[in-house]
Amino acid sequence: MPIRTIVWGENVHEQTNKTVATIYPRGMHNCIADALNADPAISATTATLQEPEHGLTAARLAQTDVLVWWGHAAHGDVQDDVVARVADAVWGGMGLIALHSAHFSKIFKKLMGAPCNLSWREAGERERLWLTSRHHPIAAGLPEHFELENEEMYGEPFGVPEPMETVFVSWFQGGEVFRSGLTWRRGAGNVFYFRPGHETYPTYHDANVQLVLKNAVKWAHNPAPRIADPNVAPNRTTENAPEKITERGPSLHVKGQEGFR
Ligand code: ZN
Repeated sequence: MPIRTIVWGENVHEQTNKTVATIYPRGMHNCIADALNADPAISATTATLQEPEHGLTAARLAQTDVLVWWGHAAHGDVQDDVVARVADAVWGGMGLIALHSAHFSKIFKKLMGAPCNLSWREAGERERLWLTSRHHPIAAGLPEHFELENEEMYGEPFGVPEPMETVFVSWFQGGEVFRSGLTWRRGAGNVFYFRPGHETYPTYHDANVQLVLKNAVKWAHNPAPRIADPNVAPNRTTENAPEKITERGPSLHVKGQEGFR
């Protein structure tokens, strides 16, 4: 079965900015989904901010292996209950790929537990991405470096926890550098952040970028069954301890009582 993927798009600047609408007439989310669907191992659909529950109902997330997230201008408009639902899905094993300005999305910040801040400049600079983890599956088939002629600059320090692996670093024409491809595991879910993708440039039409996204979906896919409730915190009673023990000392909880959350 192909990897069931949702490309979530904020879909705001496509409607309000002529440049963005010209580069992505069907929205960035459809451009990315089309690129993913060119690979028979992936089956990508889309969801947007404007749909009820942002297109991310519990039923749909339960049938999703990997969620790709692009947002920029309207992070604050994403409902907190949907963010909590997506976080549960990731902890339960769904993959998440956060793109570009999704560094400030509610879901990415929640999963990172960090400011996720960076420096930036919109000057159409050349970006050169260097592969730093040559045998990483996300880098499969890529040259040791590739360039995007026009991109927004993101500069270090990037306020995220130390990643599992750094797959790419970027150099920008103005001199800054940035860790532009980073992996983490959160619960049972694989998380990848990929930096390029400013909406006024045709980044998601680039063949190397598309290859990274296809590789990233395959890497993020966890084929194990989803953990039904990744938040469960059961009290294992004295009687149920793997080794026989007797209770000692004072106790706060009454037998059978739910723990504090
Ligand atoms: Zn941007």
